Amino acid sequence: MRKDYLLTPGPSQVPAEVLLRLAEPVFHHRTPRFKDMYKSLTEKLQQVFLTKSDVLVFASSGTGAMETSVVNLIPKGKKALTIESGKFGERWTEICAAFGIEHDVIKVEWGKAVKPADVEKKLKDDPNIAAVYATLVETSTGVEHPIKELGAIVARTNAILVVDGISGAGANELRVDDWHVDILVVGSQKALMLPPGLAVMTVSPKAKALTEKVVKAPAYYFDLKAALKAAGKSDTPYTPALTLMSALDVAVAELLKEGMENVFARHAKFAKAARAGFEAMGLKVYPERPATALTTVLMPEGIDGEEVRNIAEKKYGVNIAGGQEKLKGKVVRMAHMGYVGPMDIIIGLAALEMALAEKGVKITLGSGVAAAEAVLKQ
Ligand code: PMP
Repeated sequence: MRKDYLLTPGPSQVPAEVLLRLAEPVFHHRTPRFKDMYKSLTEKLQQVFLTKSDVLVFASSGTGAMETSVVNLIPKGKKALTIESGKFGERWTEICAAFGIEHDVIKVEWGKAVKPADVEKKLKDDPNIAAVYATLVETSTGVEHPIKELGAIVARTNAILVVDGISGAGANELRVDDWHVDILVVGSQKALMLPPGLAVMTVSPKAKALTEKVVKAPAYYFDLKAALKAAGKSDTPYTPALTLMSALDVAVAELLKEGMENVFARHAKFAKAARAGFEAMGLKVYPERPATALTTVLMPEGIDGEEVRNIAEKKYGVNIAGGQEKLKGKVVRMAHMGYVGPMDIIIGLAALEMALAEKGVKITLGSGVAAAEAVLKQ
C-alpha cells in the first residue's frame, strides 16, 4: 500500500466534497438547471477574484483562455506587449507568434520580476500597444510579478492588462478590480482545487470594448464575443464541461466560506513556513520575489534536483516538481496552493530533508521541519 501526497504546482489536491460532486449523474445543459448553476458559479467566481467583471468558463486547460485573450484583443495595426521571465511568460509570445499577431517583448532574467517602470516606458514610447500580457505567478521560477503596480500603470493608458493567473489566483493576493486587471485567466487545477479541464476568465468593460475593435478574430471555439454573448444569458456557445463546473461551484463555495482575506493569509503563512524551512535546511530560495503559491529552491552544488524529487516520490510518496528547461535538475518546486493545510508543508519539507540526506547532503534531519513548525504554530 502506498499513500501519495500531491505537492506539485498543478495539478493540486482536490477535496473529497469536490470529488463527490464529480460523481453525480450528468444532466443536460440547455436547461434552467444549468443556467442556475452557471449563474451561481460565476457570481461566486466574481467574489473569489474580487471583481464585477464578466466571468467566462471554458472547457480547456488554462492555455485555452490565454489563447482567447490574445487572438480576440489585438485590432489590426495594433500590437501586444508580452512580458517574459520564464516558460509561461514566453507562452504569451509564442501564442502571438502562432497567430501572426504583432508583438513586442520585455525579457526579464529568469528568477527576477518585471520592473513596472520598464512597462511604463514601453507604453509611453509605443501608443500602438493594445494589451500588456503579464503573469501573476511564473510557475517555472516561482516569481510573483507586481501586478498591482502594473495595473496602476496600464490603467492610465488605452491599453488593457491581461494577467495569466493560472497559477496562484485564489492563493496569492489578487484584487482584479482594485488592481485594474482587465483580463484574468485561471486554470482549474491549481488554487481552485479542481482536476484539470477548466479555464476561467474575467473580462472588464475596457477589455470588452476592445473586442469590438477586432473585426475578425482568428478564432472559432475561442471566439470571445460569442462567449461573452452567451455568458450574458448564463449560457455557453458549445457544450460546457458541466460536471467540472458543478464541482467548481463546490470548491469556490469553500473558499468563500473561509473568506478571501483568510484564504490569502493562510497561503501567505504557508509560504513563509516553507521558505523558513528550506532556508533552515541550508537551501536558497531561487526567485527574488517569491510567490505565495509555490516555493522554488536551488539544489546544493552537484546535487541533481530530479534525483531528489524522484526519491521523495518513490520512497515517501511525496510529489514535488522539478525544474523546467534551463532550471531542470537545478531546482525543486513545492506548491502550497489550494487544498493545503499546515501538515502539507511539514510533509513536503520532511520528504526533501530525507531525500537530500540520502544524496549525501550534510543536513540535520528535522531542521527544516522545526523552522516551519515555528512559523505554523503562530
Ligand atoms: N501559465 C502558468 C503560470 C502555469 O503555471 C501554467 C500551468 N503550469 C500554464 C500557464 C499553462 O496552463 P495549462 O497547462 O492549464 O494550459
